[in-house]
Amino acid sequence: MIDFRVGFGYDSHRFAPDRPLVIGGIVVPYPLGLAAHSDGDVLIHAVCDAILGAAGLRDIGTWFPDTDATWKNADSTMLLAKVVEVVTSKGWKINNLDCTLILEAPKMKPHIEAIIERLSQILQCEPDRVAVKAKTNEKMGFTGAGEGIAATAAVSLVK
Ligand code: MG
Repeated sequence: MIDFRVGFGYDSHRFAPDRPLVIGGIVVPYPLGLAAHSDGDVLIHAVCDAILGAAGLRDIGTWFPDTDATWKNADSTMLLAKVVEVVTSKGWKINNLDCTLILEAPKMKPHIEAIIERLSQILQCEPDRVAVKAKTNEKMGFTGAGEGIAATAAVSLVK
């Protein structure tokens, strides 16, 4: 009997000066980073929430509270690795991940392959089980105005 779950995650962060822009575990050259208690990796936060949601394990804020100094400027790939460790210990395997970044700039195309490679390493699955897309919001809303970046993620788990 195969058990199969689907999870969905969303996150957004505001641009801020004097911080590296980290998306999907990759540093993307850009004059602005993302404001956050951690490194602000909006994509990885959405992925963490999708995985935790699929496994019925609440959300990223429950596991890594922003009131906890341990996670100050935390490398979000460490948080994702921890999430994967927790769901793996419960017998789940990442079946696939499909995520979308919503931003006007910077252009993500040159970085997508590296992000997929990085995510598939952390998720312990083949790169063809990981999809990362980026699109603009046609200049509408906060992402359209270039105030920040949003990300969505859908994940399926099997055991
Ligand atoms: Mg976040």
